[in-house]
Amino acid sequence: MPADPEGLHERARQADKIVKNPSRYKICQGCESIVVASAVTCPSCHSYRFDDNAQAVAEQARRLAQRERQSVLAIDFE
Ligand SMILES: [Zn+2]
Repeated sequence: MPADPEGLHERARQADKIVKNPSRYKICQGCESIVVASAVTCPSCHSYRFDDNAQAVAEQARRLAQRERQSVLAIDFE
């Protein structure tokens, strides 16, 4: 989990990173979280179905950045 899960600034920063490199991420179709493209299953809901359309990922990142935390935004596993 992020160290500062409530921080909107942190979320905006993360979202910006995703918007610039959407091909490195994908959207979980189970819970709409954005996960790294290398993830096999969603760390949040354990779904294995993803949408890896780059444009959809960028749009979802922008949407999630403006929300209170509901869905997880980009969990980095590196
Ligand atoms: Zn999920």
